[in-house]
Amino acid sequence: MKYILVTGGVISGIGKGIIASSVGTILKSCGLHVTAIKIDPYINIDAGTFSPYEHVVPHITDAIQEWVMKQARISVDDDGVEPQVCVIELGGTVGDIESMPFIEAFRQFQFKVKRENFCNIHVSLIPQPNTTGEQKTKPTQNSVRELRGLGLSPDLIMCRCTTPLETAVKEKISMFCHVEPTQVICVHDVASIYRVPLLLEEQGVVRYFCQRLNLHVETRPRKML
Ligand code: ADP
Repeated sequence: MKYILVTGGVISGIGKGIIASSVGTILKSCGLHVTAIKIDPYINIDAGTFSPYEHVVPHITDAIQEWVMKQARISVDDDGVEPQVCVIELGGTVGDIESMPFIEAFRQFQFKVKRENFCNIHVSLIPQPNTTGEQKTKPTQNSVRELRGLGLSPDLIMCRCTTPLETAVKEKISMFCHVEPTQVICVHDVASIYRVPLLLEEQGVVRYFCQRLNLHVETRPRKML
C-alpha cells in the first residue's frame, strides 16, 4: 500500500481537498486502485461517560496508525479489489494543537511503512499583495520549517497562488525549502476546479509519484475520470 499524506500550511481552506482528490483522480486514471481518507482532527471522546473499566487509549498515535492502515485496505471500487494507493487529507493547518497527535502519528508511520510507501504533499499559500504585486514565499518557508520541525519533510510543495508561479519564485521556494524545483508545483486559481488534475499532470506529478513510490503505471494518464 502506498500512502500519500496531504497537509496544509499558512491558512485553512487553501485547497487541500481539491488537491487530494485531484491526485487520486490522476492516479486512478493511470489504472491504479485508489482510496482516500479525510481526517478532521477532532477527538470526539466524552471521558465523562466512560466506564471505569475503560480508559483513553494511551498510545493514541498507535491507534491512529492502525485505523489508517485498516481503512486504507477497504475496497472502494466495484470490482472489490484492495486499493493500491491511499490519499490521506489531514484537515486544518500544520501547527494547530488539535492536529498534533495526527502529525506525530504520521511521523512515526513513515518509518513503519518504509520510505518507498509514504510521501507527503504540503499545500501552501503564496500571497500576492496588491501593494507590490510580488508573489511572497515567506509564509511557505515558515510552514515548511514548522512541518520539518515536527518530523515530516514535504516531497511536493503545492503552491496555491492567484496567478501562475514565476520561475524565480519557484526557484526561491526550492532553495529555501530544500527541495528540487520539480518538487514545487504551481496550483494557481483556475475557473473550474476540474482543471486541477490536468494542472498537476502537466507538471510531472504522476512521473514523480512513479519514481518516489516505485509505482509501475503508464506515466501518461489514459483518461481523467
Ligand atoms: P481545504 O480542503 O484546504 O479546506 P478545499 O479543497 O475545500 O480546501 O478548497 C477551498 C475552496 O477553494 C473550495 O471552494 C474550492 O473549490 C476552492 N479551490 C481550491 N483549489 C482551487 C483552485 N486551484 N482554483 C480555484 N478554486 C479553488
